[in-house]
Amino acid sequence: MNRTLAVHANGLIGKKVTLFGWVDTIRDHGKISFLDIKDSSGVIQTVAKKQYDVSPQDVVKIQGTVKKRPENLINKNLPTGEIEVEIENLEIYSKAQTPPIPTEGDGYDIEENLRLKFRYLDLRRQRLQKNLKIRHEIAKLFRAYLNGQDFIEIETPYLSQTTPEGSRDFLVPSRLQPGKFYALTQSPQQYKQLLMVAGFEKYYQFARAFRDEDLRADRGFEHTQVDIEMAFIEREDIMKLIEDMYKSTAKSLGKKVLKDPFPIFTYEEAMKKFKADKFDLRNPSADGKNDDVLAFAWVVDFPLLEYDEKEKHYTFSHNPFCAPKEEDVANLMASKNLDKLLSYQYDLVLNGEEIAGGSIRITKPQIQRQVFKVMGYTDEKIEKDFSHLLNAYKYGAPPHGGIALGLDRFAAIIAGEKSIREVIAFPMTGSGQTAVMDAPSAADPQTLKELKLKVS
Ligand code: ASP
Repeated sequence: MNRTLAVHANGLIGKKVTLFGWVDTIRDHGKISFLDIKDSSGVIQTVAKKQYDVSPQDVVKIQGTVKKRPENLINKNLPTGEIEVEIENLEIYSKAQTPPIPTEGDGYDIEENLRLKFRYLDLRRQRLQKNLKIRHEIAKLFRAYLNGQDFIEIETPYLSQTTPEGSRDFLVPSRLQPGKFYALTQSPQQYKQLLMVAGFEKYYQFARAFRDEDLRADRGFEHTQVDIEMAFIEREDIMKLIEDMYKSTAKSLGKKVLKDPFPIFTYEEAMKKFKADKFDLRNPSADGKNDDVLAFAWVVDFPLLEYDEKEKHYTFSHNPFCAPKEEDVANLMASKNLDKLLSYQYDLVLNGEEIAGGSIRITKPQIQRQVFKVMGYTDEKIEKDFSHLLNAYKYGAPPHGGIALGLDRFAAIIAGEKSIREVIAFPMTGSGQTAVMDAPSAADPQTLKELKLKVS
């Protein structure tokens, strides 16, 4: 297709071009009118010297000549502000009805359910176009950094067995084995550990994590994490790597890092000082909570276990694969002082939000077994749910650890947005309904029959 993008018309004064795009705005001055045409590269002004039956949001093809604008009409705020295209031919490719929601403006005042129902129109607004480009930029920088450090990107299954990350599973019924279910992975945790046993020493992937948790303002049922695991490392190695990655990313994005190196707080210190394990180190008066300032901090030395009052036994505080600190192993093995055991878990906080978390893992089967035991798991349950991991550790398991970085939250902070929904193309509504399409929805009786399922 012979097409010139809006921004590329800049160098083409005097040349004939063909533009394709959406009519963004129309300014009718009687004899002539100005149509701003928008495409993925930006906006360009075109001039119509006769009347065309066009309306905003129509998709058009315009052939015309690029002209320099008269000096007094140059728009310095627009990348194409020095030129315009004089229309010689205009074809309407697709006529648009009046959109049910305005696509100009920031859209914050439009009811969110309506924005999500018509998300493909909502996404046309400049703010969301920019947000998704920022997200893409971050993903690109993370990938480039990890690739540069010889990490390899490996995909792991979503349809799997449950992996405990502290949430309910989403179950998917099996048609071929009626009555049996897959669980959508809450994280690639066990797979990435198996990849370490398999000899890939540096792994990453942009993974979706599915967790059926009560929805809060800043959470959805699925989120994207940059999942990382490395072999032959200690806690400090991975913290340094991740810190460097965020610092170089922040620099490329033109953001200022408040404290370099990132301050490190133990969990105990953080709870004493901030009464929480996530906190904001920006000083509101000095930094004005400036969104361009990134205040990172590490939290380490978390308790390994938490007491579950309802179940009357201990449970993991992050996930059950997290290694106890070396000096606490003896107590763990003797089931002593269980509430005092510390782990090699590390969380990264940024401007009051937790944006990453990970740990050095247990790689000794007897220690892993003991953690399951103090959590009240029976031998049968351990065998059924975790024998694959315990078996793998019998065949030469390197010391390893990793981390998962939340991409949605980081992108929201960088874009200066309060809600992660503003940096996700098709987020769910606050009540768990999908954008644009109507899920969850009733299953068709034939499908249920095939799955041998009855809805009661
Ligand atoms: N699997 C953990 C999570 O998703 C992160 C990690 O320990 O690597 O929270």
